[in-house]
Amino acid sequence: MTSSDELKLRREKEAKRIRTSLNRQRGVQHASLKGGESAVAFVKEELCIGCDQCTIVCDDGAIEVYKVAMRSPLINVESNQKAKIIRDACTGCRLCVLACPTDAISMIDR
Ligand code: SF4
Ligand code: SF4
Repeated sequence: MTSSDELKLRREKEAKRIRTSLNRQRGVQHASLKGGESAVAFVKEELCIGCDQCTIVCDDGAIEVYKVAMRSPLINVESNQKAKIIRDACTGCRLCVLACPTDAISMIDR
C-alpha cells in the first residue's frame, strides 16, 4: 500500500511536471504575442471575472478595476468588478495577458 510520504512525493513530482509544462506553454504564448510601444492591452469585459490577477502583475499602474452590476439573476450579489486598461500608462509588456486566467486580455495595435 502507498504510504503518505510516497503519495506526497508523487504529488510534488506531478506538480513540478505540470508547472514545467505550463511554463513552457506560457513561454510559447509570450513569444507569439505582440507587445512593446506599438501595442496596448485590451480587456474583453464579458470574459473578465474581476479576479485582480492582472493588477497584481502590472508594474506600470496601467490597470484599474471598476464596479459593475451582476448580470446573473441566479446569484445574489449586488456588485462585481471588471478590469480596464489605462492606455497611456500601458507599456505593452504583456504580463497581464499571461496572468489572466480567463484569457480576457489581448494585445491590440495602439
Ligand atoms: S501590457 Fe503590461 S503595462 Fe500594459 S496593462 Fe498589461 S501588464 Fe500593464
Ligand atoms: S486577470 Fe483577467 S479576469 Fe482577472 S481581473 Fe484581470 S482581466 Fe479580469
